[in-house]
Amino acid sequence: MTELVDRFGRIHTDLRISVTDRCNFRCQYCMPSEGMIWLDRSDVLTFEEIERLARLLVERAGVESIRLTGGEPTVRAGLPVLIEKLAALDVDLSMTTNGATLVRHAPDLRAAGLRRLNISLDTLDPDRFVQLTRRNELERVLAGIDVAVATGFDPVKVNAVLMRGINEDEVVPFLEMGRSKGVIVRFIEFMPLDAQGEWSSERVVTYDEILTTVAQHFDFEPISRGSSPAERFRYTDGGGEFGVIASVTEPFCDSCDRIRLTAEGQIRNCLFSLDHVDLRVLLRGGASDDDIIAAVAGEVDRKWAGHAIGQVHFLRPSKSMSQLGG
Ligand code: SAM
Ligand code: SF4
Repeated sequence: MTELVDRFGRIHTDLRISVTDRCNFRCQYCMPSEGMIWLDRSDVLTFEEIERLARLLVERAGVESIRLTGGEPTVRAGLPVLIEKLAALDVDLSMTTNGATLVRHAPDLRAAGLRRLNISLDTLDPDRFVQLTRRNELERVLAGIDVAVATGFDPVKVNAVLMRGINEDEVVPFLEMGRSKGVIVRFIEFMPLDAQGEWSSERVVTYDEILTTVAQHFDFEPISRGSSPAERFRYTDGGGEFGVIASVTEPFCDSCDRIRLTAEGQIRNCLFSLDHVDLRVLLRGGASDDDIIAAVAGEVDRKWAGHAIGQVHFLRPSKSMSQLGG
């Protein structure tokens, strides 16, 4: 076994796989409204290539969890075929989706072996939804959450990015929605990976602010976080749990165990990394399993200590979140 351990001793067991760079939404904090240049189909890893990499990393490099992401993973044709291949590995498999097609796809995804779902939703207000995603799909996403729960996905988590001046007044409505639908709501701090470059620290609704607002409406207590990036809390009245992912104000870089595979086969050791290793070249050039594992291990080894948002030497990566997978 080759452990994916970096020079700071962090062991990497969580693999994020972008299955496509394409998306049926154009969320303003993630993707420009126009002008995205999509990858050629031939440049995107095939299911066979993804399976080979995933199998190697699970069976020979200690990867324990895989999350499928995108772009929007559900726009990749035949996704349940890939899920079936990955579900056969000894791994905790999950997916992050915008939820817009779950009414149609949830049963096939579940039947293929997917058990856990994260659904991204940033507002419960129809006009804001159109403004944020540039699509009029709120009702479909809400229906998708219900279908995901009814289909037996467990847990279903709803992730909301909070941005000052846009949706910071929705903390309580989101928690009420989560309690009534039986899903775990997690608030995510806005990160400087928006395609328009409009991020500023003033627009981040912070962990402290979020908890202050929650405390005015609900009694809650912390739950052990484990390896989750989210600080987790349970309502003391038994109404379930919620979380906050404070990537900006309380970075969890010290315990980060993630690596990312982009749709075109780049391994990136951090959302904010400025370089990568190209596995597609290796895969299509006849590289051995040992060569591939060594390339991934080398990329992990080079990982830096932390993302340095807010410090003078912080540089944004040239890719937007939709190309990195979140
Ligand atoms: N399309 C899928 C979705 O929306 O869930 C998967 C890909 S999306 C890039 C993954 C996650 O990244 C989503 O939860 C989205 O809200 C989050 N995200 C995108 N841009 C972000 C930003 N600038 N800051 C924080 N989270 C962001
Ligand atoms: Fe698409 Fe997800 Fe980015 Fe929205 S956040 S544009 S749904 S990839």
